[in-house]
Amino acid sequence: MSDAGRHVIATPEPLLQRLAAQGWRVIGPKPRDGAICYEEIGPGDLPRGMTDSQQPGQYRLEPGDPGRWFDYVVGPQSWKKWLFPARQKLWSAARDGSGFTVEAPGDAWPKTAFFGVRPCEIAAMGIQDRVFDNGSFADPGYGARRAETLIVTVNCARAAETCFCAAMNTGPRAEGGYDLALTELERGGFLLEVGSAAGAALLDGLDLAPAGPDHVEAGRAVSRATAASQSRSMPAEIAPILRDAAEHPQWELVADRCLSCANCTLVCPTCFCSDVEDSTDLSGDHAERWRVWDSCFTAEFSHVHGGSVRQSTRSRYRQWMTHKLSSWHDQFGTSGCTGCGRCIAWCPVGIDITEEAAAFAASKEG
Ligand code: SF4
Ligand code: SF4
Repeated sequence: MSDAGRHVIATPEPLLQRLAAQGWRVIGPKPRDGAICYEEIGPGDLPRGMTDSQQPGQYRLEPGDPGRWFDYVVGPQSWKKWLFPARQKLWSAARDGSGFTVEAPGDAWPKTAFFGVRPCEIAAMGIQDRVFDNGSFADPGYGARRAETLIVTVNCARAAETCFCAAMNTGPRAEGGYDLALTELERGGFLLEVGSAAGAALLDGLDLAPAGPDHVEAGRAVSRATAASQSRSMPAEIAPILRDAAEHPQWELVADRCLSCANCTLVCPTCFCSDVEDSTDLSGDHAERWRVWDSCFTAEFSHVHGGSVRQSTRSRYRQWMTHKLSSWHDQFGTSGCTGCGRCIAWCPVGIDITEEAAAFAASKEG
């Protein structure tokens, strides 16, 4: 990138003001029910001065340094809530004399900016892009929403205790996939980098100070320090290790703790399974079909003729972890995990995918 695409700004507010002035719907971080959620925001709405504390089975949003803008990282929601909604009506049908008419709802998506997307979340969108448009299947709604969304990323200046993006090569600095990127500098202010023509167009006419080499180096130093602060890792050979571990005793050990609650799949930014539900009203005059998120941790998920194929928690956890870290490579050419740490923080019993992976790797070495 040329230096003309790098600037220094004191706060992110001018960007939010510009987006509002140009009629963008902006979705960004908003505290709700004690957690960072992704909802519509306007200028002045960023939760400045907040931080988070995350451990296995624990998440707390807390007051932090009042001068910092983005010292919290990912919460329970991810951007898939917008791109791949948890409940989406596919069609409705109404009785019409002796027949019926079917109506597909419009899939309106106003021009939208995702503001505050973390690097691991850009990676998660890239993974879901392969799921929802892979040559043999293309979800038109997802594709349109994705294509028409401006991405403003925030490189992480702080990692939660549960983060391991550095081990998965998905962060803490975004290397692409954004229109604009912000890095909050240690000494205050932001390095603002342009990643696309749409990002450059948004800045057009704003009075921005150019970034010098010292600002660029300060931004890189923030990312290096954030990566160095992460303690969790992922064994490099975990894909072949899990491929050969179908009968490993570790599955029983994790199943003894796992509640099969499905939290890990719901918070995961890459999990993509869905089901369809049909309903009618009591008169039989109106019927609807909805697509809803599903999870490989439910008994119904693997129900085929005669019952559920995966009756035990052991088999469901094995399916989830083996798909995520191993067979995902065969299916989509990447890992299904970005190292966001959500499944660790939001597992009610604190099961940690990195600890489980380490246990499989250790037994292989032994
Ligand atoms: S498996 Fe866990 S750490 Fe990996 S992307 Fe999903 S929620 Fe994040
Ligand atoms: S691993 Fe944790 S979050 Fe996932 S189903 Fe089991 S208990 Fe629930």
